[in-house]
Amino acid sequence: MSCIASAPLYPAGSFKTCVSTFDTISREGFAAIHNIPLTHLQRERFSWRQASLPIRHGGLSIIAASVTSDAAYIGSIIDTSDLARQLTSAIEAEHPYDDEALTRHAIERIQDTYSLGSAFNFTGLHIRHSQGLRQSQRFLSLAIQTALSERLFVSLGKRNVLHKAHLLSCREHEASDWIRAIPDPKFKSAISGALWNTMVSLRLLVPIESFCSYCADAGTAAVPDKYGHHALICRHKYGYTRRHNTVKDTIAQVAFRRCGMTVIHEPHNLGSNPSDRPDLFAPLTDTAYDITILSAYAPSNVKGFSKDARSPILRREAEKHKRYDARLATIGQGLKLLAFGMNHIGVLGDDAKKVIAEQATVLASQSSYSHATAKRILRTHISIALHSFNALSVNVRKRHPTPMNSTPA
Ligand SMILES: [Zn+2]
Repeated sequence: MSCIASAPLYPAGSFKTCVSTFDTISREGFAAIHNIPLTHLQRERFSWRQASLPIRHGGLSIIAASVTSDAAYIGSIIDTSDLARQLTSAIEAEHPYDDEALTRHAIERIQDTYSLGSAFNFTGLHIRHSQGLRQSQRFLSLAIQTALSERLFVSLGKRNVLHKAHLLSCREHEASDWIRAIPDPKFKSAISGALWNTMVSLRLLVPIESFCSYCADAGTAAVPDKYGHHALICRHKYGYTRRHNTVKDTIAQVAFRRCGMTVIHEPHNLGSNPSDRPDLFAPLTDTAYDITILSAYAPSNVKGFSKDARSPILRREAEKHKRYDARLATIGQGLKLLAFGMNHIGVLGDDAKKVIAEQATVLASQSSYSHATAKRILRTHISIALHSFNALSVNVRKRHPTPMNSTPA
């Protein structure tokens, strides 16, 4: 990146070419590694714009050089301002010396370069000479990335509820736990190449030309499934229920049995009516657990998730409490429910976070892990189980059924 950091040394024209070549190469490399057709990542398309955002903004941190170069340019002005002052006073107009002028200069330049408009006014951004090159470059990069992330969301408009629901969920910290995991077969955090590529495609809403053969087998009209969204919400065979059970079994295994705690699967007669069964019950703590995974893309949920990534989950957790709390109180004192709510992109509800925090305390007390590490371990396991299951169900549904009337050649 040294060519980018020394931006002022380059004549503007050739520097721009250099940066854009760098970005093209990184886009082509990313497409080749992840087996994504380059046409799906053309510069202004949603997928590439999302991939270019930092993970904390819902992207994959394939940060474009065109984003960092401006931050680096202004950083280098700060770094060289003393030398410039010594050499000549004529440069003063180009190199503002007081902090306020420097900040204004930075903001104007960024707004102009990225055509951000007045909606992104960077209030709160203060560049100071004393920050030095690295720090000011970092602050500027963060401000630019936050603005680009917001611009991507705003650009989706009112009709793209699915893209909005998707992006809002991806921005939540825990939705990216599978990306941050260090691949380790012993830790069961290694993900196979094919599965990883599908997980990345789902993260970026890249068309993957899936096709639901189960709906066709079940007599329902066969569903062409361009983005794999149908596969993620279809209730036929390999989907909905099995995803729930996969996550439930992972929680039982890593959050309870690993800590030496017994859990009973689906104990009878604990809810408001006799057939109600929460998913898990831990006798040691007198706590029942019920796991819900909402599909953020399902027609009944997508609008809610396009406004807020968390409130539909919190609502569902509250419904679960309504169903179980009164009944549990009559069965035994201190008997309680934790409703483990999440959506299929990995956003966790309040109760779900509580379960993880409580079990992390148990895990930390039995190992050399800190509470934060234990929490990260539990969350990573759940995240990988969820996202690899999503990718698997899309891959399984990719098969095209054999045409019924076809005759062998
Ligand atoms: Zn289907």
